[in-house]
Amino acid sequence: MFDNLSDKLDNALHVLKGHGQITEVNVAETLKEVRRALVDADVNYKIAKDFTKTVKEKALGQDVLTALKPGQLMVKLVKDELTQLMGGEAAGVNLSGNPSVILMSGLQGSGKTTFSGKLANYLKNKKTKKPLLVACDVYRPAAINQLHVVGEQIGVEVFSDEGNQDPVAISKAAIAHAKENGHNVVIIDTAGRLAVDEAMMTEISNIHTAIEPHETLFVVDSMTGQDAVNTAKAFNDRLNFDGVILTKLDGDTRGGAAISIKSVVNKPIKFIGTGEKMDAIDVFYPSRMADRILGMGDVVSLVERAQEQYDEEEARKLQKKIAKNAFGFDDFLKQLQQIKKMGSMKDLLGMIPGAGKMLKDVDIDDDAFKGIEAIIHSMTPDERSTPKIINSSRKKRIAKGSGTSVQEVNQLLKQFNQMGKMMKMMQGGGGRQMMNMMKG
Ligand code: GDP
Repeated sequence: MFDNLSDKLDNALHVLKGHGQITEVNVAETLKEVRRALVDADVNYKIAKDFTKTVKEKALGQDVLTALKPGQLMVKLVKDELTQLMGGEAAGVNLSGNPSVILMSGLQGSGKTTFSGKLANYLKNKKTKKPLLVACDVYRPAAINQLHVVGEQIGVEVFSDEGNQDPVAISKAAIAHAKENGHNVVIIDTAGRLAVDEAMMTEISNIHTAIEPHETLFVVDSMTGQDAVNTAKAFNDRLNFDGVILTKLDGDTRGGAAISIKSVVNKPIKFIGTGEKMDAIDVFYPSRMADRILGMGDVVSLVERAQEQYDEEEARKLQKKIAKNAFGFDDFLKQLQQIKKMGSMKDLLGMIPGAGKMLKDVDIDDDAFKGIEAIIHSMTPDERSTPKIINSSRKKRIAKGSGTSVQEVNQLLKQFNQMGKMMKMMQGGGGRQMMNMMKG
């Protein structure tokens, strides 16, 4: 996601890293590069210009004696401004009605049908929602069929009336059906065309006027860059929609649409699509997205995933062991297994600040832990709980048993010792010290 833009911004911001202080000259130089990076990412020129102007004013208005170094300060200012530009806070979907009616709009191929399915699935997983999907594309029987396939896949009912040419009538019948059958959310997938045209606009605005949805969402393919922004404007002028869904962000290396759409239509991006599968949907958080764009990783999402695996009881036991210096290889193994449950390695590492960029072209093998696990499995229980006893003859035996080399065994032992030291440091109130070290 956004690899090109991230690289260019990183280069731009690098200029300031060696400088001791913010000056007009180095700020201007850096921001010229930032602006170029944004324009290359297909951000509208005026937006890019306003962006750098705001950042410049803030940078020069800063107290020189700020605790942050110029490079860090600029990264922070750019991050804050990007977050603002993308909408500040995350915006939810209005689900107040019973049923709540959600109308989907957008061009053909934008990912409307796929997203309707993703949203239905997302809401269904929230347990309190029972969605109904409605197929309202009266021109393409294949589209109706596609929605039925999606519905079947996620176990959500699909309402359709093939042969009926009146989308308003279908929508109304669907809402009545939802009321009778206890569906509390109705998601209406409408027809799209390849380009904005009057007939489509009239049709969607007729549906909009007739059924008065609680929420009207506009779906757009992020890879179309400035076109996405222009299409958003055309739809918003007619529908005054409530929010934007940016799809295909997984294939978007530039990010122009994500950055500019909010400031052009003044409507928030609510969700993003990051793949073809039904679970490839994420709530859009401007600040997390800014972090990702700046290659700062997405630590919050990483922590959330970790929390899903977190077991308080286990954590307490572990802490005691560390305090007593009794952390052994069995505990290490348990930790590894927990990490593995959090997702694929590449995915996880990509969320760590700085790591995403470094690992961009590296093929990370999810079996990377296998060697480590094999080594630990070849240790005796005594060796695992008291690694100090592992002398050279034991090392040879372990290497042989695990199909690795003595060198690899040594490496793991060394890493383990270092980890032990680090853990002690964190325990002894050194956490702050560590954080500072990491901040560099
Ligand atoms: P519609 O015509 O607007 O209903 O668009 P579809 O839902 O049929 O999507 C068009 C194509 O884009 C399909 O091949 C989808 O699988 C694909 N697609 C939709 N959303 C995403 C996404 O977030 N990422 C990727 N990579 N493909 C997507």
